[in-house]
Amino acid sequence: MFAAAEIGLDERVTRFVGERHRLLIGGQWVDAATGKTFPVYNPASGEVIAQVAEGDREDIDRAVKAARRAFESGPWPRLTPSDRGRLVWKLGDLILEHLEELAELESWDNGKPIRVARAADVPLAADLFHYMAGWATKIEGNTISISVPYAPEARFHAYTLREPVGVVGQIIPWNFPLLMAAWKLGPALATGCTVVLKPAEETPLSALRLGELIQEAGFPDGVVNIVTGFGETAGAALAAHPGIDKVAFTGSTEVGKLIVQAAANDLKKVSLELGGKSPNVVLHDADLDLAVAGTASAIFFNHGQCCCAGSRLFVEESIFDKLVGGVADEAKKIKVGPGLDPNTQMGPMVSETQYNRVCGYLEAGLSEGAKAVAGGGKLSGKGYFVEPTVLVDTKPDMKVIREEIFGPVVAAIPFKELDDDVIKAANDTIYGLAAGVWTRDISKAHAVAGKLKAGTVWINCYNIFDAALPFGGYKQSGWGREMGHDAIDLYTQKKAVCAAL
Ligand code: ADP
Repeated sequence: MFAAAEIGLDERVTRFVGERHRLLIGGQWVDAATGKTFPVYNPASGEVIAQVAEGDREDIDRAVKAARRAFESGPWPRLTPSDRGRLVWKLGDLILEHLEELAELESWDNGKPIRVARAADVPLAADLFHYMAGWATKIEGNTISISVPYAPEARFHAYTLREPVGVVGQIIPWNFPLLMAAWKLGPALATGCTVVLKPAEETPLSALRLGELIQEAGFPDGVVNIVTGFGETAGAALAAHPGIDKVAFTGSTEVGKLIVQAAANDLKKVSLELGGKSPNVVLHDADLDLAVAGTASAIFFNHGQCCCAGSRLFVEESIFDKLVGGVADEAKKIKVGPGLDPNTQMGPMVSETQYNRVCGYLEAGLSEGAKAVAGGGKLSGKGYFVEPTVLVDTKPDMKVIREEIFGPVVAAIPFKELDDDVIKAANDTIYGLAAGVWTRDISKAHAVAGKLKAGTVWINCYNIFDAALPFGGYKQSGWGREMGHDAIDLYTQKKAVCAAL
């Protein structure tokens, strides 16, 4: 089924991938109620590497009930905040202990370069749990002096409590499978919620291994349930399930809207981290070397499969040729290959669907008159490889400018000088997830940052993430902020208590 020896994988990874992959429900690993499974592919070769249980409505229902039981009774709600924090911390430790194994698994399943999985995905996932562990003991309400004008003689003691929101359905994408699981699970567990997690069907393996580590850390049964399956079936059933108090979703804006509709029926709470078409603005006084390397990595990191990818590159005319020439040279130098090859800098697109989608955008852009100064096509042979691409001569109404490509394709757009029109063009998108600005002038940098309508603005850097820094979108890029202090608010609700004295 897979050629483990050929790619020199850690023996624990080949053993795990070769096992039977079931659903984690109520602390037990079980087959899907229908008995069905679905294949998981290596995107570098198109070959099947594993079969995974295909969860559906009935499995989601069982998982939600298990999560409800764990939330209402049993050991979880009785744990002290300190004990809860210790469990979350331990999960972070276990991820670090299994760093190499998880990195290989992620690279094999998703296609990302092993060196990136080792340096970013896995350590960031561990750090997220470590960061959130500290919050478990710092969830506080306030005491409030109230006046109550209609009862002037009466006295009251009023205060607020922050309580866990309850049972949470979490639906995650395939671009950072382990890290997205961490972003979702970390705050949910720190606040005392229970979870039904649905990983993306393209990349379920690291979440399943994480499920084993969650058990090893000692979380009570049913606190985290993992149901692998497809979006339209298992995902939709989870978003609509009346036993869920909140649904947290990361993925496309299109599916985000379906999640909102599914959740509307019983008005469950919703948080969304959706698509982007992020502008990256380079001014004439930028450090050119820094800006070339930074704007190239803003789009090519993770093969452009990032919701915050800097896909619209606005460059001041006087440096346009130099900057864009530099980015094109960077693109041409990128070593594209299987993620598990230690020399690979960019792996394949995650799936055949994604590969066809990105190639479709390239064809559309080129046929509408855009020109590729680097890349522009696919790579021949096995696997879902696309060339890192830099487009010029685009028009504002082209599909490659308006729509999220989610691939290694950047459009470079010149502007005469920094004025309101540039800011308007940068903000001319339905999205508002992230943006970048490159300049040595600190006043301009902060002024532009203030005008860009995005949840994150990077100045002279890009793709800087930290567990302490809130991340989320303006406009159709989402609702709510993940990570940092804000994530605790997403998973708690406030209760006002008022006592007559
Ligand atoms: P992409 O288009 O990049 O694959 P999606 O938004 O389709 O991203 O997928 C992100 C996650 O949403 C995946 O876990 C997927 O299974 C899930 N999903 C897809 N469609 C639905 C749906 N109708 N309801 C709930 N979840 C869905």
